Amino acid sequence: MDDFRPVDPERIRALVDELGASPLALTPILAPAELGRLSADFHDYSPVLEPLLKGRCAQVAVKVERLEQVMAVAGACARHRVPLTLRGAGTGNYGQCVPLAGGLVLDLSGLNRLRSVDPVSGIVEAEPGCTLAHLDGQLALHGRALRLAPSTYRSATLGGFFAGGSGGLGSLRWGFLRDPGHLLGLEVVTLEAEPRLLRLDAAASAPLNHAYGTNGIITALRLASTEAVAWQQLVVGFSRWEAALEASRELPTTALLLNALCLLEAPVADRMPWPVGCPAAGPGEHRLLLHAAPDTLELLPGWLAARGGQLRWQGPRPEAGRARGLPLGELTWNHTTLHWRAQAPDWTYLQLLLPRPEAPLLEAVRQRWGSDVLWHLEAVRYQGAPRLTALPLVRWQGPQALADLVAQCRELGAVPFNPHVITVEDGGLGVVDADQVAAKAAYDPAGLMNPGKLRGWAG
Ligand SMILES: Cc1cc2nc3c(=O)[nH]c(=O)nc-3n(C[C@H](O)[C@H](O)[C@H](O)COP(=O)(O)OP(=O)(O)OC[C@H]3O[C@@H](n4cnc5c(N)ncnc54)[C@H](O)[C@@H]3O)c2cc1C
Repeated sequence: MDDFRPVDPERIRALVDELGASPLALTPILAPAELGRLSADFHDYSPVLEPLLKGRCAQVAVKVERLEQVMAVAGACARHRVPLTLRGAGTGNYGQCVPLAGGLVLDLSGLNRLRSVDPVSGIVEAEPGCTLAHLDGQLALHGRALRLAPSTYRSATLGGFFAGGSGGLGSLRWGFLRDPGHLLGLEVVTLEAEPRLLRLDAAASAPLNHAYGTNGIITALRLASTEAVAWQQLVVGFSRWEAALEASRELPTTALLLNALCLLEAPVADRMPWPVGCPAAGPGEHRLLLHAAPDTLELLPGWLAARGGQLRWQGPRPEAGRARGLPLGELTWNHTTLHWRAQAPDWTYLQLLLPRPEAPLLEAVRQRWGSDVLWHLEAVRYQGAPRLTALPLVRWQGPQALADLVAQCRELGAVPFNPHVITVEDGGLGVVDADQVAAKAAYDPAGLMNPGKLRGWAG
């Protein structure tokens, strides 16, 4: 981390002068408070990342709304050799948009036009700054919907989701963003003295998917959508954990159409806020949260009751983009962590793909860590098969205890996706992706984009 130092102020001044003189209405932001805000994300979920990223801040920021502005900023950064960090809504959890080496932060949230929706195929092309809820609302007008969305659906941007996220609501049906078939193409601006504007097909786009904005500025995305469904939100209570776990394993293997399934262990359910009209969880009540299609409702309550689950509340998912109050999706994925940490800031979390069967691992961890690890599970489709992932809440007891817990889970067959690291590779399977590195060499030859976040880049 000591290798990353802010840029010589002279170079920043020259860059600011050039941007300020541009006829494209580029306004360099230099106010420290605003720079601090535009350099921050949600990495404070991690007590490991927090000290590591403390004080890392952009030296200048620019907000853009048009493609030609992006190209002008890219060219200026390349000519002045100033690092560039891209930013959507800044909701990433791993410090993805915290600039390690100062430089310029480019806020793309204003580049947010929906360019087209193909009425036959449903293929959509949109600019990266669209918030997912807004985009979904536009798609609904065509009877279409996003396949995948993070629980930050209301605030996160499309570009930030593909560059920094992985999945979420919809992962039960559609797997993860990097699965072939979601991202069909990209428009990209290169970071060169004379920036190029490229249109990449699906294969050429793949290395930019989940690359933390290290290998090209995404200025438009083409993606597959799905049919719109009027998802119903269901909250189901279970008194026995084993029964709740069994229902969570079994439900995704039925023909009941679901878009999300989240299981919260009783102490976690006890501390969640609930949508208006939904009763708080009773003592010792584990809760299953579902997004289910309307045609499941005849069968589902009886199916759940036969397995010990009682329907506590049901309501339509708020219309895309018009959510008032608390949508159930905002109790799932990393929103569970958010709500828990609001009351227990000394806790953190992990991300694990659980082995099948899951119960032996869950039990072994409980035996060793007691109530210092609490279970939050999410159902997903992983490599085509239904699986359960976990985002356990973990009382922070120092880095060694966290490493011991990760090692135990790995030994018991889980695949950890470590949220306490800053590089693309370490947050995934730990392996360098040669295609991501090659894309960086081609589109960011001077290595100025989000320095320090792509471990495979040695240049
Ligand atoms: C409460 C909470 C819940 C969350 N739930 C989920 C979840 O369910 N699923 C999930 O996957 N994530 C989740 N996240 C993480 C995060 O919200 C998502 O990854 C989100 O999609 C990021 O979008 P953003 O617009 O905030 O991106 P940002 O945080 O602004 O950026 C993310 C990364 O993308 C890069 N980037 C942004 N725009 C571009 C561009 N145009 N071109 C190239 N690179 C770009 C940035 O440099 C950065 O590295 C959650 C986070 C929080 C705090």
